[in-house]
Amino acid sequence: MKEILPGLWDVDEIGSMVHVYLWEWEDGVSLIDTGVPGNETKILDGARRIGYQPSDIKRLIVTHADIDHVGSLKAIKRITHAPVACHTVEKALLEHPERRRPSGTPLALLLSPLFALMRLAPALRVEPVSPDEIYVDGDRLPEGFVMIHTPGHTPGHISLLHPEKRFLIAGDALNTRTGPLSGPPPIFTPNMDNAHRSIWKLWKKYGADYDTIVFGHGDPIRENASDAVKGLIDQIYETEPGRAA
Ligand SMILES: [Zn+2]
Repeated sequence: MKEILPGLWDVDEIGSMVHVYLWEWEDGVSLIDTGVPGNETKILDGARRIGYQPSDIKRLIVTHADIDHVGSLKAIKRITHAPVACHTVEKALLEHPERRRPSGTPLALLLSPLFALMRLAPALRVEPVSPDEIYVDGDRLPEGFVMIHTPGHTPGHISLLHPEKRFLIAGDALNTRTGPLSGPPPIFTPNMDNAHRSIWKLWKKYGADYDTIVFGHGDPIRENASDAVKGLIDQIYETEPGRAA
């Protein structure tokens, strides 16, 4: 377990390909995402290592329904009995993982038979989960998070802002996977225009409320994170003139 900020832990027991976060709050802890299929033991062992039993896990918050974020959701729900929370729009993908579409880019279309085949492999199968709690943009969660609807990568993708502690969990709305801050990968993002609008929203509406951003993929930005988001926006709209936010 790696503590990023007081109370915010990166469950690094699962490696660093995708990040699962554990947040400590008054009533216990909540998990944000659950990694790939088969991660449940490592995640729960990580929680135990800092003193939390499965019954201390109060909520499983889903940023979006991709296999690397909800792969172990069903298994962890089975063990912890914690309610699953997501955005209203993402409910359909959680319940019907086969509906996930990559994008309309030529590469994605070329690879689509492969994606379909991959979904049949047992190790890559996402078990459907019915969320227990659904939220909309701007809702406040008991953990202190403001749920921000950041669609594009998936229709009901969310980011979580903790305004008091001044950090943002971006999910896959943003990433630093290759180093510099960037938007979600176009090949797995069916609506890139919306993804860009979501980035705009994270800066314009909420940029004054966070210093740190943590991501589903890549290392955190610990200081002046909103300046980095603004820099990315300038890049996006400069290289694609005529785009309105
Ligand atoms: Zn991801």
